[in-house]
Amino acid sequence: MRPYPFSAVVGMPDLRLALVLSAISPAVGGVLVRGEKGTAKSTMVRALAGLLPGVDVVDGCRFSCDPADPDPACPDGPHPDGAPGHRRPARLVELPVGAAEDRVVGSLDLERALGDGVTDFQPGLLAGAHRGLLYVDEVNLLHDHLVDTLLDAAAMGRATIEREGVSVSHAARFVLIGTMNPEEGELRPQLLDRFGLTVEVSSSREPAERMEIVRRRLAYEADPEGFAGGYADDERRLAADIDAARRRLPSVRLTDDALRQIAEVCAAFEVDGMRADIVTARTAVAHAAWAGRDSVTTDDVRVAARLALPHRRRRNPFDAPGIDSEELEQALRDAEPPDPVPPDDGPDGPDGPGSGGPAPGEGEDPGTGDADRGHGDADRGHGDADGGHGDADGGHGDADGGHGGAGERRQVGAGRPYRARLFTVGGTGMGARGRRSRAETDSGRTVGVRPHGDRGSGAPHLPATVRAAAPHQRARGRRGPGLVLRPGDLRYARREGKEGNLVLFCVDASGSMGARARMREVKSAVLSLLLDAYQRRDKVGLVTFRGREAEVALPPTISVDAAAARLESLPTGGRTPLAEGLLRAAEVLRVEALRDPRRRPLLVVVTDGRATSGNDAVARSHAAADLLAATGVTSVVMDCESGRMRLGLAATLARRLGGEHVPLGEVAADALAHEVKRRAA
Ligand SMILES: [Zn+2]
Repeated sequence: MRPYPFSAVVGMPDLRLALVLSAISPAVGGVLVRGEKGTAKSTMVRALAGLLPGVDVVDGCRFSCDPADPDPACPDGPHPDGAPGHRRPARLVELPVGAAEDRVVGSLDLERALGDGVTDFQPGLLAGAHRGLLYVDEVNLLHDHLVDTLLDAAAMGRATIEREGVSVSHAARFVLIGTMNPEEGELRPQLLDRFGLTVEVSSSREPAERMEIVRRRLAYEADPEGFAGGYADDERRLAADIDAARRRLPSVRLTDDALRQIAEVCAAFEVDGMRADIVTARTAVAHAAWAGRDSVTTDDVRVAARLALPHRRRRNPFDAPGIDSEELEQALRDAEPPDPVPPDDGPDGPDGPGSGGPAPGEGEDPGTGDADRGHGDADRGHGDADGGHGDADGGHGDADGGHGGAGERRQVGAGRPYRARLFTVGGTGMGARGRRSRAETDSGRTVGVRPHGDRGSGAPHLPATVRAAAPHQRARGRRGPGLVLRPGDLRYARREGKEGNLVLFCVDASGSMGARARMREVKSAVLSLLLDAYQRRDKVGLVTFRGREAEVALPPTISVDAAAARLESLPTGGRTPLAEGLLRAAEVLRVEALRDPRRRPLLVVVTDGRATSGNDAVARSHAAADLLAATGVTSVVMDCESGRMRLGLAATLARRLGGEHVPLGEVAADALAHEVKRRAA
């Protein structure tokens, strides 16, 4: 079936532009497309391949060597000078998120290596994508192990496969394009940074536009050939424009004025490192080439900043996406020389109306009206949770409700979140893929060997196979090189990766916690742990207790945004029903164990350890802790006690729970490192 034409996709001007710029200049570093399901983002990405110029490849080379410049290490080589070649269309290779490593990097046929003594390497997806596009749909769900492989290949421009001392390597330069739905979890910051550009897409809210989308979709499905044929001229024109821009690219000048603007903008948006400046510069150059200019203008810098900076900003991960256009204009103005250059009012580039290339500067702010939240950028400078101001309530923190009666409700917002320490569930789980605790998986790191008959889904394990076959060689009549193998000799690898967990927060919201500064600090710590849970693809839940009772403020969910919102508006004050809080948490855990039995829980109790509500409050809280401990749940007590007089009740609670005791000031990852250094000195 003919693919849907690129020019037929309605709307999404930023995505269109970002894809075209990546096609013009692969050095820009690819595109990450974020948006809800059903926005045709995948359709558009897949259609891009049809617009790329063809590539010349050596005849018979499975690694797409260029006849003019073959890879000296090509597994199908060495190719002689002037090896015959042919032109084929550029490829778009899709990397499925569940792909086994062998499928991605290629596989060495170990049975042949053993039996016949030859190295038989089958190219993987990375080889297929060389000199083309590598597309990962749901890139945020990609296994960490594959992410590392992908990052290595993207950084080196080569893929290397090593198995038991045999190593094969080949060129793998590709434009990486990923699509994701942020509601399904965020991307690891290292991978986020690998993408040159990001674009947020959302469904159009314009009735006319929605009608046109449906009309075209129906027409395409009724007659794909005819539909695509109707856009053939547009597609040809667009492909020719991209080709022309590619040729113009090397001659586009990046003046000092443009460079200054780029530096100014990157500084204004507080991006980390220099990569942002470099990507913005490359994008601006590509955009100038696309617009038919021979030097970079303010317009090019503006467009480049809008596409290259949103995912590189230091920001609260729950902030709205995109970058503020007024801020951008201000930064551009700040960089302008005293005698401003006249605005460029040349032609709008080679693309005529309808050919799909938007005019420079066109398109709305990518963040407008978009419900998506957060760039998962929790991995940045930590905030102010080091306990420095935690003692402000030392004088009056001892009476419950010291700041108000039992019925009074007060709200204190959270401060800036920071990178939190990693807390894990011990042992090896079997839970859903994630990034918290150790688990047996089908595509992680090899950690051992499965016995014969238990293949799992792993790859053959060579040393174990040889060991199994070796004792039988004489009996099998082996002569000459190579082992005589039987299927029963094959041993397979046992693999280990990471799982997501259920992180259940049980938060004391009573008056003893209620001093403003203290509560802000508590909320910052919990918010930081929530962000961490978001990135590790945990489920989260929130139980709170104050006054006489505990409540499930948020039943276990994957929506960390919802948890953050509940936390933000959490009222505080009143007595401390610790036992009720713990019992309610136990009940939530019991129900979740039935509902989602493979997901192992981590209980985070946030309290100063006081119990003051009802009769025998302390004894009942001990009993509740013992009950929880008996369930075997892994727990962490975040100790919120402050002031000069300390009772150490939270530490006692942690002991009863059999859990870890962590003072509030040590929740930050950096705070811990700091503390270790301090003690070592
Ligand atoms: Zn080759």
